[in-house]
Amino acid sequence: MNALLDWLSHGLVNASVTQLVVFTLVMTHITIVGVTVYLHRHSAHRAVDLHPVLQHFFRFWLWLTTGMITKEWTAIHRKHHATCETPDDPHSPQIQGIRKIFWQGAEVYREAAVPETLKRFGAGTPDDWLERHIYTPYNFIGVSLMLVIDLVLFGAIGLTIWAVQMLWIPVLAAGVINGIGHFWGYRNFECPDAARNISPWGILIGGEELHNNHHTYPNSAKLSQKPWEFDIGWLWIRLFQSVGLAKPRSTGPVVEKVPGKTTLDIDTAWAVLNDRFRIMATYAENVVTPLVEQELARAGNVTRGMVRGARRLLCREESLVDAEQRDRRTALLEENPALQEVYDFRQRLQAVWAKRGGNAEELVRELRQWCADAEASGIQALKDFVRELKSYSVPRLARG
Ligand SMILES: [Zn+2]
Ligand SMILES: [Zn+2]
Repeated sequence: MNALLDWLSHGLVNASVTQLVVFTLVMTHITIVGVTVYLHRHSAHRAVDLHPVLQHFFRFWLWLTTGMITKEWTAIHRKHHATCETPDDPHSPQIQGIRKIFWQGAEVYREAAVPETLKRFGAGTPDDWLERHIYTPYNFIGVSLMLVIDLVLFGAIGLTIWAVQMLWIPVLAAGVINGIGHFWGYRNFECPDAARNISPWGILIGGEELHNNHHTYPNSAKLSQKPWEFDIGWLWIRLFQSVGLAKPRSTGPVVEKVPGKTTLDIDTAWAVLNDRFRIMATYAENVVTPLVEQELARAGNVTRGMVRGARRLLCREESLVDAEQRDRRTALLEENPALQEVYDFRQRLQAVWAKRGGNAEELVRELRQWCADAEASGIQALKDFVRELKSYSVPRLARG
């Protein structure tokens, strides 16, 4: 009896509160690394190759700590990218409401795991003996085993640790990323959906916080894009790579700026097309922002908030602009012919790569025309932008 009470109060290891907290954080961090590196970047996007040993480790770990099935996660996630913010999107807060995705994120996932989706989007996921006989049919056994391990090690408090482990993914990955990541936060790039970066430091959720960067460059193994952003998942990939366990396939568009290059050729066109999101962000930063500042200053007192607001009205992805914002934009442009001009140039540039079906010569011709017109506009910021655009090229190796 005493032995039982003893075990209930501190389990086998008699850990201090600090040790319990550290244990929980380490366990949940390994799970998050499994989700972001293995399920997300490796399985769903093929952005990084992982050594079979590491794949097996993560499959086992995710079975033990989450009960998630690789094929289901991969298929639902690929469908999310393919149908983002439409009624077919398995988890769009823009369509289903932030409350539902935040609080019922895990349920939404389960509902979405229908055979048709798994068949259409689940290609290339594990289908070996372990998957067919253990991980998929007995996905609840792993988490039950984890409960036993927690109870044996820590006694009654093990139940709390286990509950935290079980809630970590539904709350942080399903709720926060799929909900907040398409609702609140900042946007580096105007990707064609509502994805946002929740925080510039991706630690707690393994780098997944940088969701706007990810939707802009979904095949990149690295989710940070700005020098001040940090993606701990990428740090893990580099560590795995240093011991031969991982090989990133892509880290975003490979382009080069050649100083002194002044002709717009086919290499420029490809590079510009590849890096269009960054180029549009540069346009917003270097062309629209200074002009907005100048025009608003002319009209009287101007605050940073006003500049940011006006810039957003002029540069936001069109599907995210509502009717009220559209009216405000029209009014702003009517009052400021200079803003109207840079806005029109932005729309024209966007239209060049919107119809990507066109051939390469057409792309070069349209870009050249755009540059000629922009240079003739007399707006210095536009001229500088054109000079930078012309310096774009594909790196020597890629040119072959
Ligand atoms: Zn998303
Ligand atoms: Zn993704």
